[in-house]
Parts: sequence; C-alpha cells; structure tokens
Amino acid sequence: MRQAIIHFFKSFLLWELVQGMRLTGRHFFSRKVTVQYPEEKTPQSPRFRGLHALRRYPNGEERCIGCKLCEAVCPALAITIDTEPREDGTRRTTRYDIDLFKCIYCGFCEESCPVDSIVETRVFEYHFENRGENIMHKHQLLAIGDKYEVDIAADREADAPYR
Ligand code: SF4
Ligand code: SF4
Repeated sequence: MRQAIIHFFKSFLLWELVQGMRLTGRHFFSRKVTVQYPEEKTPQSPRFRGLHALRRYPNGEERCIGCKLCEAVCPALAITIDTEPREDGTRRTTRYDIDLFKCIYCGFCEESCPVDSIVETRVFEYHFENRGENIMHKHQLLAIGDKYEVDIAADREADAPYR
C-alpha cells in the first residue's frame, strides 16, 4: 500500500522528469569535452600509428636493406617485399607493398626494422576512392616518408629515451 502511494505521488509530481532535469542542470554549466572535429583535434602521441612511410638517409639513400623482417613479423600478412642485389653489391627492394585493408596498425613492422626504415606516421586522415588504392607501393611509401621526414625524425627522437 505504502509503495503504491509513493508511486502515485512520484507519477503525479513527474519525479523522473525532475531527476532527469537535475542531471541535465548539473552538466549544463560544466566544461564541455566534445571535440569539434575536424576543426579541433585531440593530442597525438609520438608513437601514434597511422599511415606507413619508408624513410631515407639524409643523403637520399633508401634506408630499407630488404631484410624482410617486417614482412615476416607482420601478423596480418599485409607486407609483400621483393629484393634484388644492386650493382654495388648492396641489397634493395624492387617491390614493397602494404595492403592497408589487411593492416591492423599494430606497429610490429616498425619495431622489427633494424634501420628505422618502415615507420608509421601520425597521418590518419586518408581515404581510397578506387579499387586497388589500398595497396601502397614503394614509391608512394617513400614519397610519404620524404614529405613527413621532419615530423617522423622528431617523433623518433622524442621516443628514444623510452627505448
Ligand atoms: S602495422 Fe602491423 S599489421 Fe600493419 S603492416 Fe605493420 S606489422 Fe603488418
Ligand atoms: S623496412 Fe626494415 S625490416 Fe622491412 S625489409 Fe626494409 S630494412 Fe627490413
């Protein structure tokens, strides 16, 4: 009987509505945490794992020595590498493809590379418009590396004390 009376008055006084409005009122004047993307962006770590890139040395030489460690370690089998010896006896890749549809952005390729060649940049705003564009080829990866080398080097330096 007592419960029924309480229920009646709660219904009559719109108690649930009052509770809801109290919650709304509590957050109405507090600081908003919604990020207005893309005008606003959240901070990124130097270890952010975005679009891949292949790096060069300052003299323009490709870092990659075609050891295939990244290909072996990739859990998604997203990397395909072919290599050939050059005239000077060094080995370089003739093909370096990454299938970004397979990639799970785990960063293992980056971790395994003995010469800091394959890296993941902070770039995450990219898309594909045509079939097959998800396969990133060597020249594209090198171009990304060239474009973002300053940022990539700065991120590696910031992360170096923790390695
Ligand atoms: S980030 Fe991971 S899944 Fe993607 S290519 Fe590298 S090793 Fe493979
Ligand atoms: S990117 Fe690094 S790990 Fe992969 S083949 Fe080249 S040198 Fe080896």
